[in-house]
Amino acid sequence: MADYYGLLGVTNAASQDEIKKAYRKQAMKYHPDKNKGDAEAEAKFKEVGKAYEALSDPEKRKMYDQYGEAAFQNGGTGTGGFGGSGFGGGFEDIFESFFGGGGRSQRPQQVHGADIQTEISLQLKEVLHKKNVELKVRRAEPCEKCSGTGSASKKAPTTCSTCHGAGRVQVSQGFFAMTQTCPKCHGTGKMVTDPCHTCRGESTIVKTVPISAVIPAGVEDGMKVRLSQEGHAAPFKGVRGDLFIYIHVRNDSRFIRERDNLYAKLPLSFAKAVLGGEIEVETLDSKKTIKLPEGMQPGQRIKIDGDGVPNVRSNKRGNLILEAHIEVPKKVSGKAKDLLKAYAQEMKEKI
Ligand SMILES: [Zn+2]
Ligand SMILES: [Zn+2]
Repeated sequence: MADYYGLLGVTNAASQDEIKKAYRKQAMKYHPDKNKGDAEAEAKFKEVGKAYEALSDPEKRKMYDQYGEAAFQNGGTGTGGFGGSGFGGGFEDIFESFFGGGGRSQRPQQVHGADIQTEISLQLKEVLHKKNVELKVRRAEPCEKCSGTGSASKKAPTTCSTCHGAGRVQVSQGFFAMTQTCPKCHGTGKMVTDPCHTCRGESTIVKTVPISAVIPAGVEDGMKVRLSQEGHAAPFKGVRGDLFIYIHVRNDSRFIRERDNLYAKLPLSFAKAVLGGEIEVETLDSKKTIKLPEGMQPGQRIKIDGDGVPNVRSNKRGNLILEAHIEVPKKVSGKAKDLLKAYAQEMKEKI
């Protein structure tokens, strides 16, 4: 199965803007004009176009997130060569952003709700398994009183007379024609003539709603999880924004994490370091008995396979790497002292 996010070099938490940027970069790199006669680049160019077509559309992206590439296998995507509808839309989008809008802006468009950002904090131990979290999110919801029409009579809103439903208007500034949000309808493209009393004609009201989310195992501090279309409802039944959950992973003083691996100190007495044998060590979630070789040196490392943290993509656990620290006692008993002297003598060492 093609990994659309991987093709564009982004994670599944990427925003629409990041996806657009990533696509532009990849499309430039593999563009046939730049790679004449390179069949591999051409194939890659097509794949990248397919990935962008799916991920740039919130509805399709949601499908892809749920069902993978299989979501598009029954018709629709049109992969017929460069001119195909496959990435026609995608390309148009890109050029729109290159040249700052233009022809498309007068077409009525669906209004998107705003994204929401929230955060959660996890103990390092908690990233070992995927985690179901229940969040309380304050977000715009369609007004129930007017069924999201914004109108007291539940009449469908009319098209804004200023922007003709586009939500944007063109203004001239010197040589440049720029588009900006329509001041009359505030970008919704719609007008309500008999405003609903509950939402004052806005069609949405802010509520606190419970949202359940699954945080995948192996997340790292600073990652974000995107819940497609769980953000603010758009006015007049447009497309919901996304919900982003920013992850904080607290440090565990016993370990240092480097991606999927964990590092820890292994304190050893001189005798243990010399003699080796079994020793109990702390892993992130339990304790384990391992066997030490004889003659462990300061700084020598022991790897325990599979006791790191899971990789967020593959779910395969990394390793725990222990570094030997030989501990010298500050004080020992008289008997121990005598034995150490005998030891020194045995090693032909002058004390
Ligand atoms: Zn308007
Ligand atoms: Zn209402």
